[in-house]
Amino acid sequence: MAETLTKTFTPYQPKPDEEYMNKNQLNHFRAILNNWKSDLSHDIDKTVHTMQDEVTMFADPNDRASQESDMALELRNRDRERKLIKKIDETLRNIDADEYGYCEGCGVEIGLKRLEARPTATLCIDCKTLDEMRERQVAK
Ligand SMILES: [Zn+2]
Repeated sequence: MAETLTKTFTPYQPKPDEEYMNKNQLNHFRAILNNWKSDLSHDIDKTVHTMQDEVTMFADPNDRASQESDMALELRNRDRERKLIKKIDETLRNIDADEYGYCEGCGVEIGLKRLEARPTATLCIDCKTLDEMRERQVAK
């Protein structure tokens, strides 16, 4: 599951003199995040049910092994979805606090386009790139 949004929505069309992150824009992103979150919660519910339904004891050890790895994968996905939901909640709090849409690194406007692609982004593209470069250096 990607962290970027695959769901389709109407991109926000700001008026030329519109203020960045005014009420309309904040509402736009709040709606995107809430939809995303309910999709994810739905997925998690589905996973739980699937797992409960599918726990069967296979006689064949190969079947058992593949069932186990399927479940491990499901659990990892679920864990990732939970973390993402947490991040979405944090982002929604930022919106409520009127702090949404600005880079945590340098304070510039992250921009509507970038936020529509990654609604939970907290860094502008420059800071993000720098961040990734540093991470790669640490990983070496
Ligand atoms: Zn920045």
